[in-house]
Amino acid sequence: MRLLVQTGLCFIMLSCLLLGVNQENKHVKAATASSKPVVYLTFDDGPSEKTKEVLAILKKEGVKATFFMLGKEVKQYPGIAKQVVQEGHAIGNHTYNHVYAELYGSFANFAKQVMDTDEAIYQATGVRTNLLRAPGGTFGNFDQGYFDAMAKAGYIINDWNVDSGDSTRVGVPEKEIINTVEHSTLFNKTVVLMHDSSIHGESVKALPEVIAFFKKKGYQFAVLTDQVEPIQFRLAPSMKWKRPKVTAAETQTVVQYMNRTRTSAAIPPPNTQSLIVHAAGEEIKFEPLEYKMEAGTTVVPLRQLIMGLHGIIRLDMAGGIVEAMVNNESISWTASEVGGSGTSLPSRIMVPVRDTLQRFHYAIQKMTATKDKREIWIELS
Ligand SMILES: [Zn+2]
Repeated sequence: MRLLVQTGLCFIMLSCLLLGVNQENKHVKAATASSKPVVYLTFDDGPSEKTKEVLAILKKEGVKATFFMLGKEVKQYPGIAKQVVQEGHAIGNHTYNHVYAELYGSFANFAKQVMDTDEAIYQATGVRTNLLRAPGGTFGNFDQGYFDAMAKAGYIINDWNVDSGDSTRVGVPEKEIINTVEHSTLFNKTVVLMHDSSIHGESVKALPEVIAFFKKKGYQFAVLTDQVEPIQFRLAPSMKWKRPKVTAAETQTVVQYMNRTRTSAAIPPPNTQSLIVHAAGEEIKFEPLEYKMEAGTTVVPLRQLIMGLHGIIRLDMAGGIVEAMVNNESISWTASEVGGSGTSLPSRIMVPVRDTLQRFHYAIQKMTATKDKREIWIELS
């Protein structure tokens, strides 16, 4: 096991990448630092029978994606929602029924749909997701009140910067979808909007070529997480909807819901359980006090995890960036992403275990928990 500590110059390139980001939006602060540009494929409005076809293609191509699901579809296809998680993809919340007039006619309705969907996703998959995508996107639908209330609750609102156009009308043909993607402006961090509802057979047909296009352009594929700075549209000067302002009480309802479902109180305290990650016949063991549960996410010391995976860690103390390399794959975090601030890295760098493993292309095969230990089995996917 090697531990390389480097400073300064080596990271000039990385720092430059950090600055290269879609400027359309004031909320976007920094792109994920990486040696390669990153594409996040996102599929909205599922799950449906089409999702299975999408999953088969993603598996064949060795690509992970993010699925923004509708609560009502999750209720109908809980098994498919679960399969999405089991195959290492991320799930986001896309409200319950997608009916614009209900969602954007009143924040109380919007919030209720988000909470109902959260519960549906949790029941089907065991995952509590903080990722949210507004049906139709935020532009003209979200006012500052919507943005603020959802952010206060801990939601990360994700719009996109490449629209595949697969939903501009019913039945947009495969060729047109591919053409739209190939002629879009691409970014160092590209978030592609696609759909996997039952009417999106053409999107499924287009998918292999969309993936091939990004591979050819040198992109790496990743899933959205709480740690990925979201693409958000700018606030529209006027709204498409007339509605009352978001009230403090309405905001409080979502904040309290999130507190109730995300705090450690909702999850058995880890301080009596050790955490064991089984990777290729090896065990990476975290003692009860070595890892933490934060907002429903298991957070572990980066160094221990990476060394257990026979990887390398590089610290750029001057730039405040930590980079980990496992199996020739490199991931970087800025100080603020790992609990530091500015360019100062914390003495103990903690990362979300599930997200980090997924970004290194490990799929979680199995998870178990008993009174005294929690175990995760992972495999390179
Ligand atoms: Zn949608």
